[in-house]
Amino acid sequence: MTHEEKKKEESHGRPEIPAWMRAVAEVISAPGYERWARQVAATGGCSAPVRLVGESQVIDAGTGEVLHIYRTADEPTGHLLVACGNRRGAVCPACSHIYQRDVFHLIRSGLSGGKGVPEAVREHPRVFATLTAPSFGAVHTQRERNGKTLVCRPRRGGGVCGHGVPERCGARHDGADIRVGQPICPDCYDYAGAVLWQAHAGRLWHRFTLELRRQLARRAGMSRRRFDALVRVSFAKVAEYQRRGLVHFHAVIRLDGPGGHDDPPPGWATAQLLADAVPEAAGLVQVLSPDPGNGQRVLAWGDQIDVRAIVVRGDGGGLSDEAVAGYIAKYASKGAESSGTIDRRLSCGRCKGVGTVTMARGPAVCKRCGGVGTAGGLDLDRLPVTEHARRMIRTCWDLGGRPELEELRLRPWAHMLGFRGHFATKSRRYSVTLSTLRQDRAEHKTAESRQRNGLPGPESTEVLAHWRFAGQGYTEAQEILAGHISQRAITARRIEEQRREGA
Ligand SMILES: [Zn+2]
Ligand SMILES: [Zn+2]
Ligand SMILES: [Zn+2]
Ligand SMILES: [Zn+2]
Repeated sequence: MTHEEKKKEESHGRPEIPAWMRAVAEVISAPGYERWARQVAATGGCSAPVRLVGESQVIDAGTGEVLHIYRTADEPTGHLLVACGNRRGAVCPACSHIYQRDVFHLIRSGLSGGKGVPEAVREHPRVFATLTAPSFGAVHTQRERNGKTLVCRPRRGGGVCGHGVPERCGARHDGADIRVGQPICPDCYDYAGAVLWQAHAGRLWHRFTLELRRQLARRAGMSRRRFDALVRVSFAKVAEYQRRGLVHFHAVIRLDGPGGHDDPPPGWATAQLLADAVPEAAGLVQVLSPDPGNGQRVLAWGDQIDVRAIVVRGDGGGLSDEAVAGYIAKYASKGAESSGTIDRRLSCGRCKGVGTVTMARGPAVCKRCGGVGTAGGLDLDRLPVTEHARRMIRTCWDLGGRPELEELRLRPWAHMLGFRGHFATKSRRYSVTLSTLRQDRAEHKTAESRQRNGLPGPESTEVLAHWRFAGQGYTEAQEILAGHISQRAITARRIEEQRREGA
């Protein structure tokens, strides 16, 4: 006890209790705390669970008899807590962990079998490819050789650009240095090019998958039509933001027979054929975009295309299937945060950044944003982001106002620096789907609860449910308590996962 506290205790008879502690005590002593704590544990440690109100009835499919009723009205809290299910680690670590595990299993089953995919899939030719963005100007870089950090841009002489900025940077940046990824001279940096490229990244990927088939067919000496009848190209890919604010794509690409993962491809469709065709196809892909400054712009991949063999666990030389699944799962749970941007939409939700809305009598000024177009009247030039992210966002906003670029929806996607694609995608026959994995988990949970309540299986019953969203997240005091409960739930789950994977 400090001197101050002692004095207080002497003068008032008892110490002052801080407000947060009183609030925590209130939560604990409220009726139904035990039940609330069990609900918190059941969300698996979710940091912002959704509150639902409503009911569900289990009905005998034959007789129509109601076998079981659950009503949130009977809960002491009046609601049910459900995990938020967010994919991103920066938003909800616990739900993101579950998502990561699912992606891991999805990718790994497509490489070495399991989850309904035969083990023979590991004999199919496959590679791990990384496709990057081209350069839009020199940026500060973390450079390493043999574990030593090198000078960022060693240039002899005192060259300066047209803006008087030295072309040389003598610093040795480490990974934590916020300058990494920021342009050497922002005025020289081609922001319009970077934003237009990013807005077309999804299209570039699509074109790449088409060109890859064309190149594989050409190398095999047959027509596209014949090739397509004999070989299916399956892939799973994930987008990763680099420090310079542009995405990379990492992808597993696999050759199958026409039936997909349980159908081997013809013998001539080898991993070498695939490894040769990937860089060639990537090098040929182009997408044209209108460019307000220059009429039109040709967009392509950068020349840093990396193709690596995927080996079955334990073999040397190449990446193991486990490592590849791990990489993709890790990237899939990230957003654009590593590029220093902001976490939410910047455009007004009503007019989508346009500033006007279409009424029966014609266009009218949007009442929600007063015609500014930003959410809540935000000032784009005062966002708490890096200077580079601010200029990317500003460029998205300015280009987003040009009618010829309307379809790129750059204002609603300004916070993602122009990228509006999906973070993780896969072709239909790669392996299982995420929703299958989720459904299996949900069915397992339902079966457990049926057993607990002594109810018959899903074959002979029907479930009628009505749910309504009643809010999300915890109060400050609840959060403190939920933190402890969650930690226990997460630890228990990790132990269970290890046990299951060890078995
Ligand atoms: Zn969550
Ligand atoms: Zn530097
Ligand atoms: Zn310059
Ligand atoms: Zn508006």
